[in-house]
Amino acid sequence: MVASEIRALFAVASRPEVVSLGSGMPYITALPLDVVGDLVADLVATRGSVALQYGGGQGDPALREQICEVMRLEGIEAGPDDIMVTVGSQQALDLITRIFIDPGDVVLAEGPSYAGALGTFAAYQAKVVHIAMDDQGLIPEALAQTIYALQAAGNRIKFLYTIPTFQNPAGVTLNEVRRRQVLEICRRTGVLVVEDNPYGLLGFDGEPMRALRADDPDGVVYLGSFSKTLAPGFRVGWAVAPHAIRDKLVLAMESAVLSHSTFTQLAVGQYLTTQPWREQIKTFRELYRERRDAMLNALEVFMPPGCTWTRPAGGFFVWMTLPEGLNSKALLPRAIAERVAFVPGTGFYSDGGGTRNMRLSFCYPEPDRIKEGVRRLAGVIEQELRM
Ligand code: PMP
Repeated sequence: MVASEIRALFAVASRPEVVSLGSGMPYITALPLDVVGDLVADLVATRGSVALQYGGGQGDPALREQICEVMRLEGIEAGPDDIMVTVGSQQALDLITRIFIDPGDVVLAEGPSYAGALGTFAAYQAKVVHIAMDDQGLIPEALAQTIYALQAAGNRIKFLYTIPTFQNPAGVTLNEVRRRQVLEICRRTGVLVVEDNPYGLLGFDGEPMRALRADDPDGVVYLGSFSKTLAPGFRVGWAVAPHAIRDKLVLAMESAVLSHSTFTQLAVGQYLTTQPWREQIKTFRELYRERRDAMLNALEVFMPPGCTWTRPAGGFFVWMTLPEGLNSKALLPRAIAERVAFVPGTGFYSDGGGTRNMRLSFCYPEPDRIKEGVRRLAGVIEQELRM
């Protein structure tokens, strides 16, 4: 295991003079904190003897019913029995990896992919093979070719890990045609799909995308989370899995943590029952859309020629590619000296890729700060190009 580059960055980037385009922290200030406070106090007063007791198994049944309703927004028809509550979707990633991976087994993942997942795969000694993406997400031909080549060479591919919607870190979304193709390829080659979807409801235009799980309940394990649609501090996420896999996940969960927090599960349940959660998600969407716009405008205005970036339609992240010859990691100390932070691209690859890339998040700073941060960063890049 190695310390995540993002964690090391948090310490520096939290200094008030630094504009952090690095961390992916949701802007929970937009939540009505007094309402959440009342709700938690009420929970203890009225249902304290349950809320403060051990839970276990698949998680609170009423919450699992509510999760089904949330997932229907993305076309998923699941029942509470298909769901296991987890400590954020990060725990689901850990448990899935734990039950499937023997050292040397292959996990396929987009290149780039979520650093937290890559860390988990590495901890269980999986061999991660990246699949190329473009601005429409994972490239199906690249996926098929990689699977054929790996299988022909005798590798055991345990699953494809994908974030199809508003990907972390690339900010791109798998289009509808490709969704069908990816499912078809995985079905044909016997590769399980693990669909990680914490940002799916944070789209900036139109209706939510249809989840992969909606079209292949037997071939897809779906991971969801309340971290971005409510608050990460509750640490409530979930996995939806075929029952044979679900049973193993429950055993693995119990050996890891014995029981989830009943308290936060019931608090999330109470929030969903008593509060206008759809409206709150809309508030988050509008807030993040404004910040996305601020970032894209600032990039257009300030970045020197030769820099390119993605244009996310939802989520938290823009993925930038620097001109030939520049290295984002080498740039970071200079950027911090100029009071702006980002995450270098290499943290999102298991194979040394991403040297010319950086992840810029627009979720946390106010729009004016985003503009100022991009201006500072552009200055650092320009200076580097002149050297
Ligand atoms: N998957 C992805 C793609 C993420 O971006 C994150 C959080 N940054 C997680 C999983 C984990 O989130 P949580 O454990 O808070 O649900």
